[in-house]
Amino acid sequence: MKAMVLSAAGEALQLRSVEKPVAGANDLLIRVHTCGVCRTDLHLLDAELPNAVFPIIPGHEIVGTIVATGSAVQSFRIGDRAGVPWLGHTCGQCSYCVAGQENLCDHASFTGCTINGGYAEYVAADSQYCFPMPGMYSNLEAAPLLCAGLIGYRALRMAAGAKRIGVYGFGAAAQIITQIACHQGRTVYGFTRPGDQAAQQLAYDCGVVWAGSSDEEPPSPLDAALLFAPAGELVPQALRHVHKGGAVICAGIHMSDIPAFPYALLWGNGGFAQSPI
Ligand SMILES: [Zn+2]
Ligand SMILES: [Zn+2]
Repeated sequence: MKAMVLSAAGEALQLRSVEKPVAGANDLLIRVHTCGVCRTDLHLLDAELPNAVFPIIPGHEIVGTIVATGSAVQSFRIGDRAGVPWLGHTCGQCSYCVAGQENLCDHASFTGCTINGGYAEYVAADSQYCFPMPGMYSNLEAAPLLCAGLIGYRALRMAAGAKRIGVYGFGAAAQIITQIACHQGRTVYGFTRPGDQAAQQLAYDCGVVWAGSSDEEPPSPLDAALLFAPAGELVPQALRHVHKGGAVICAGIHMSDIPAFPYALLWGNGGFAQSPI
């Protein structure tokens, strides 16, 4: 089959003929229709993911049709449409897996990072981590939900009952989750890089009541800040924007170093939490 292969960090993707994968006992063999491009793919390219395995076929927002199933697969059938996300496998035995926090597994595998992903004609994926795809979504609509939608929704859930939410960095996760938060009746404020008018317009198009630069004060203090941009300097800025007891939620898979900041920002303002996918 044909696949786009990244032989090492910093290299260009190469179109190569590679062996078609074979479904193991728990796997689905999927003919790929669509695979989204995620910011994490750039972290892979930039050597910012220490566990990455090379050469690798990237891509972890995969939608396709099942063409074969392993002998132990019961929950999917050939011909079904399935989605494959970032979390590709967990050990099922470590303390996190046993506690139902498999996203924190000590021995997890990640699609398109430690196991081959969806920049290919076919992918084999553990069925226990695949999603059935409802017919209401097209392939193109469904693919971004498998990472951007997933981490966005997880971050929004960590914001619990927050009514006034700041969203930082208007990539795919922010675009999806802003629309959902607005639909839920929350008030959303959009923060972008200074001067990024296009991103601020996009934020307005998604439903925010105010859009501005991350170094600007929002018109009112926030109950929660969701950080999707991989920029550590946003953490102290967001802490300044939330009121006492507010939450700053770091949702990215990678972030540059967080600069030192005065403890008063934590004491007088919010706490912060990380939202592992
Ligand atoms: Zn992703
Ligand atoms: Zn585990």
